[in-house]
Amino acid sequence: MAEIRTDVVIIGAGTAGLSAAIYTQRAGKQAIVLEGESYGGQIINTLDVENYPGIKHISGFDFATGLYEQAQDLGAKIEMESALQIIDNGKEKIVKTKENDYIAGAVILATGVKRRELGIENEKELTGKGVSYCATCDGAFYRKKDVAVNGGGNTALEDAEFLTRFCNKVYLIHRRDQFRADVAEVKKITDKPNIELVLNSTIDELQTGEDGKLNGVETVDKVTGEKRVLPVSGLFVAIGQVPSNQAFGDVVALDDAGYIKAGEDTKTSAPGIFAAGDCRTKQVRQLATAASDGAVAALAACAYIEE
Ligand code: NAP
Repeated sequence: MAEIRTDVVIIGAGTAGLSAAIYTQRAGKQAIVLEGESYGGQIINTLDVENYPGIKHISGFDFATGLYEQAQDLGAKIEMESALQIIDNGKEKIVKTKENDYIAGAVILATGVKRRELGIENEKELTGKGVSYCATCDGAFYRKKDVAVNGGGNTALEDAEFLTRFCNKVYLIHRRDQFRADVAEVKKITDKPNIELVLNSTIDELQTGEDGKLNGVETVDKVTGEKRVLPVSGLFVAIGQVPSNQAFGDVVALDDAGYIKAGEDTKTSAPGIFAAGDCRTKQVRQLATAASDGAVAALAACAYIEE
């Protein structure tokens, strides 16, 4: 295990983290970004980004790759290591990974969020065998088949619209009769001939075929109590997101849902530790607000080091 000194350690290479790296480098400080999975964060799974100001259309992959390359070109170091713990010694913070100890003057948490699971029986066993959390990654396996999407937010509606392009039929299951998604997304699924809305309904059972794969989803109508089995071979779960900040809950205050308590200035309860993007308490979780947080956190971190 080596001790590596830098100015700012950024935990997470999603939009917020890579934006923070760009702004840290441009402020003349050295950023090291730690990422436990793959760069890009959630946006990498979005087929078409059409609400980032100044860019009419771009794939999530291209957007994330552009950020990654921009951060690297400016001199940020991006290490594929999971941050396991932060030790806060005041003006010196140690971020521990399995491989190294990173010692920095400031830390930016940009840990993002993960897809929420249904929490029902068989879900884990059927993950990868019919149950998926990423339509753009796995949708192609269900060409010409019947599938279901669960959720009523932007992700669910985008997933449903994407799947209608090549699946035989798409059931969109939502627990209410109003969608949380933007009007623009709702418009895109309206009048699609191969989509069926299953509203006011939740999933209470995942059915498994003899081959060990998903072959049906049982829904229950919350109004009538009626149960129905949808004969689908794929289920795309898009019921929102959950933060994963437990490892850092001893150094920064978290709210009841596990988000890092921080305002628009990205300052957490610990001086010199900042939180940027979807991982912090905030109203609007969008690509543009993640990038904005990255810039704010980086400049605040650089100012903290100079104090
Ligand atoms: P979301 O907006 O939080 O929506 C989650 C949906 O799942 C809601 O409709 C919710 O129902 C439902 N839900 C939550 N828990 C559930 C449960 N246990 N069982 C069944 N249904 C459940 O999540 P998201 O769609 O993943 O979007 C997350 C954030 O990313 C949002 O801010 C969204 O605007 C943003 N986003 C933006 C874009 C874009 O701008 N193009 C694309 C994707 C995501 P209720 O409505 O009843 O609460």
